Amino acid sequence: MDHRLLDRLRDLRGSLGADLTSITRMVEDDAPRADVLRDLGERLTDLGAALLRRAEDVNAGVLAKLPEDGWLPEAGVRHRALTLAHNVGPRPLRCGRVYLALCGAACFPFYGRDLSGRTARHERCRRCQDRLFR
Ligand SMILES: [Zn+2]
Repeated sequence: MDHRLLDRLRDLRGSLGADLTSITRMVEDDAPRADVLRDLGERLTDLGAALLRRAEDVNAGVLAKLPEDGWLPEAGVRHRALTLAHNVGPRPLRCGRVYLALCGAACFPFYGRDLSGRTARHERCRRCQDRLFR
């Protein structure tokens, strides 16, 4: 799946030069052509839609590994000291091994999906709470 998308992106890069030449000529000659614009627009729309679908699939895979409510303990060595819990929102931003919370704090899923609710023992970050319910 990712390889097909990568191929499509490479194909687009390969054809954009010719598209740009056509469109530049159109603009310079003040002779707009709907077919050229529509063709490029359709290709960009199709690829954009495929990228968005893939992003949603990847996001669903990420969400499936995190607690359902999106609350994660703050990352760092002091996690046993019951640090704040932060919320990563509906589209978690992963940055290496950590996730960035809505407030910008780095979090780590120490309890995995946390089916036993251990994150509930951590105080919740107010900034995340405010952003979540805004
Ligand atoms: Zn927070």
